[in-house]
Amino acid sequence: MPGVSEGSRILLVEDEPALAREIMRALERERWPADHVSSLADAFEAVITLRYRLVLLDRRLPDGDGIGLVPAAKSRPSPPSIIFLTARDDIADRIEGLDAGADDYLVKPFALEELLARVRAACRRPATEGAPTAIQVGGLFFDPATREIWVDARALALPRRELALLELLVRRAGRVVQRSHLESELYGFDGDFTANALETVVSRLRRRLEDAAAGVELLTIRGVGYMLQPC
Ligand code: CA
Repeated sequence: MPGVSEGSRILLVEDEPALAREIMRALERERWPADHVSSLADAFEAVITLRYRLVLLDRRLPDGDGIGLVPAAKSRPSPPSIIFLTARDDIADRIEGLDAGADDYLVKPFALEELLARVRAACRRPATEGAPTAIQVGGLFFDPATREIWVDARALALPRRELALLELLVRRAGRVVQRSHLESELYGFDGDFTANALETVVSRLRRRLEDAAAGVELLTIRGVGYMLQPC
């Protein structure tokens, strides 16, 4: 079962415009999908809204030390690898960075070839040993540990009942899930629900998955139940 560590999106956090441009061009040439932000605040927002494989992190940022991002990035369900890019070549700084949870360290100025080699190495190895493995169906990832859903790199928020339904279907993707099972899980055996309550939740979820371009289809198996499969 593939894990979310297969995502390959890179976040560059760097406030020097010329260097950032150069790195972004190099990543583009190597066909690494990447985003660039130039402040700690924007980096925080990026790591909590998108799923990154790797963060290239400058330490001296206009609004603080890049090291402050590490705990937030590393507490994500499938944490990114982190490589510090910094002018600091002090041994104490290096140890501080690695102790904080960074995976690697590159001292400026560095050759772009060296950076790309580190990027390739970081994206080959698992982001974190023992990181939770997400269930993938089409372009949709479901993390059983946190019940978070991702489409591509974007988090998908669902109302409680649609989330519960999706979880039941994702766990049995490619197999038909009986409607009686879904109803008892969603509403309880003695639950007070109308005859078409399940259909309503199904059609809302189906529309939301389509809108999100999740790469899955939610099939109605007439008289039996529902099935989620990649499309
Ligand atoms: Ca800087």
